Amino acid sequence: MLTYAIIPAAGRGVRLGLDTPKQFLHLHHKPLLLYTLEVLLEAPFINGVVLAVPEDFLAEAQRLVRDYYGDYPSLTVLAGGKERQDSVWKALQQVPGECDLVVVHDGVRPLVTRQLLETTCQAALLTGAAIAAIPATDTVKRVHQERVVETLPREEIWLVQTPQVFRLDILLDSYQEARRCGWAVTDDASLVERMGFPVSVVPGSRTNLKITTREDLAWLRWYLDTGRVANDSRSE
Ligand code: C5P
Repeated sequence: MLTYAIIPAAGRGVRLGLDTPKQFLHLHHKPLLLYTLEVLLEAPFINGVVLAVPEDFLAEAQRLVRDYYGDYPSLTVLAGGKERQDSVWKALQQVPGECDLVVVHDGVRPLVTRQLLETTCQAALLTGAAIAAIPATDTVKRVHQERVVETLPREEIWLVQTPQVFRLDILLDSYQEARRCGWAVTDDASLVERMGFPVSVVPGSRTNLKITTREDLAWLRWYLDTGRVANDSRSE
């Protein structure tokens, strides 16, 4: 059983309006991205990791990885693409053909747990594709030009996270078709769904937040300050 992980971390973080992409911001003693990377590198059921970073941060990322982990043969760092989808596609080229499962996990979700990764992998082994998601607690409406168009049935709304795990052949087929047809999506499962493959859902976690805004970053700082990661809630 061979499992590889892809970490798309090549975003510029424009929504935060900082010069340095947020994945390279230092929180406590290390950059945000390394919190994420460590969980994946240390998961015993993951055999290799491919990390995509912005092209102009490639040298910086390679230096960071060397400084923190030395030579790590199962880790490849490469330059991502223009969109997230391009970054995952580039990383996918580095995954060996004999690989069974591919885990895709956003670089900016540093509080993922080993348990969640494992649960998602187990579900993907059964069905071919599995994603972590949490049920919506707010009411969800479709809005166009500041007017409500409709209210969606909340009990059917799930907020999708990563990890998302796929059999390699399913993910490759979906990405190849997406490139042929010009599909543009914001998560990998959307491509797999369009191909007609079933995608199962496992319960994600509210702490597995995608750090996007200043408020998210402030929350993460508080979370780390309270020592929760030091107590290793991530391998719970
Ligand atoms: O932009 P979004 O919030 O969907 O980003 C999710 C993840 O995809 C982030 O970790 C981000 O760094 C990554 N990404 C990427 N390549 C891009 C854009 C985003 O790897 N061109």
